[in-house]
Amino acid sequence: MARPRIVIVGAGFAGHSAARRLQRLARGRAEIVLLNPTDYFLYLPLLPEVATGVLEPRRISVPLAATLPGVRVLLGHAGAVDLNARTVEWADPEGRRRVLGYHRLVLALGSVNKLLPVPGVSEYAHGFRGVAEALYLRDHLTRQIELAEQATDPAERRARCTFVVAGAGYTGTEVAAQGTLFTAALAAGRPLVRDLPRWLVVDTADRVLPTLDPRLSHTAAEVLRMRGVRVLTGTGVDRAGPDGVRLSTGEQVPTRTLVWCVGVRPEPLVAGLGLATQDGRLVVDEFLNVPGRPDVFACGDAAAVPDVLRPGSLTGMTAQHAVRQGRLAAGNVAASYGHGRRRPYRHRDLGFAVDLGGWKAAANPLGVPLGGVAGKAVTRGYHLLSMPGNRTRVVTDWLLDATLSRQPVQLGLVRGSAIPLAADG
Ligand SMILES: Cc1cc2nc3c(=O)[nH]c(=O)nc-3n(C[C@H](O)[C@H](O)[C@H](O)COP(=O)(O)OP(=O)(O)OC[C@H]3O[C@@H](n4cnc5c(N)ncnc54)[C@H](O)[C@@H]3O)c2cc1C
Repeated sequence: MARPRIVIVGAGFAGHSAARRLQRLARGRAEIVLLNPTDYFLYLPLLPEVATGVLEPRRISVPLAATLPGVRVLLGHAGAVDLNARTVEWADPEGRRRVLGYHRLVLALGSVNKLLPVPGVSEYAHGFRGVAEALYLRDHLTRQIELAEQATDPAERRARCTFVVAGAGYTGTEVAAQGTLFTAALAAGRPLVRDLPRWLVVDTADRVLPTLDPRLSHTAAEVLRMRGVRVLTGTGVDRAGPDGVRLSTGEQVPTRTLVWCVGVRPEPLVAGLGLATQDGRLVVDEFLNVPGRPDVFACGDAAAVPDVLRPGSLTGMTAQHAVRQGRLAAGNVAASYGHGRRRPYRHRDLGFAVDLGGWKAAANPLGVPLGGVAGKAVTRGYHLLSMPGNRTRVVTDWLLDATLSRQPVQLGLVRGSAIPLAADG
């Protein structure tokens, strides 16, 4: 290796921003390699809009090559890291195994669906972490409304029009709030099912958006209530089956839909590294450096980054932190070569934005609570500014959605068996 090689594993929020900054800092003096299973960066916060037919999936899939000139993008999946030999073992999409040497390594692996030991969930629930799952859900919702109209048994019709979401965090809340508008639109022209679609959100916490500002919870709960979504707090899923879900209250809910949004856990590769972890996340110091391994850095959901502003706690698993940690990791890698000074991670929350579909959102930019149209404008503006590309395409889809009805067609390209909840180990 003539030039030092910096390998970044994972091209999500943290990895993409690390690669972008490193490429600018290195100006050709180092080889920047980005290893990721897909050739795009996925803007996850807009995934609910893909599942509910507002955005086409490529709108939120930002090409890596086009947005990271000068970075060598390798399409593949890291399987193991040999920290002593300084190599990453990886496999390309056709299964060919390779080994890649590095001088510095940035691990930005992200997270996967969190499973709970609830009978039937791994068979009958579907997660919500990627394009395939969003496409599946869009088709599934459409199909359920169509099959409900075809059904002759009123009980089956009601079950097919009942949609259960487990988890009232921002993902589950957005899926339910946006999903209810989508299924209402799908059912509108069908007299037999027009009034049947029902959404139910369950969470063991005592409010929706339990980790966010209570004022956002209040706004979101109000919108869900207005749209007829039944919210059951302090309630879990006890069992899932092909025809329904049993809740911890003992209630049996006939349904063909269980969307699993109970949270995420760090990518399983982290556990196999033989390094210290906290809550499953890779332990790093405030410089995002793995203790005892000056050549290894980690950032984003997969890293246990100490929150210096809230001593004793870790930074949240959010895009806001991941982007900033990616940038900082890049700066600290450069500093390890004598370029600039290394800095600790320090970031005060700038607020959160939850898109509730239609003209509704719940946001608190810089701590100011906003709902309705103002919240919506801030939320959409925030997403556009945060996307590293595809902005015109996203705005175009938003304009189309504001003027035309959503297309009630299911392409059936993703089968349920192709997106098992426990696929990632
Ligand atoms: C539906 C949804 C909505 C969300 N909405 C918001 C929101 O509104 N605001 C917010 O702040 N946060 C939101 N989040 C959370 C946010 O998306 C995450 O905190 C953020 O993606 C973390 O960034 P990351 O770079 O650590 O991981 P990711 O963005 O998940 O990226 C990880 C990357 O690593 C790759 N990878 C994984 N394993 C390997 C491997 N073995 N080899 C190579 N590559 C690998 C993955 O394919 C992926 O490209 C949302 C999450 C979801 C799922």
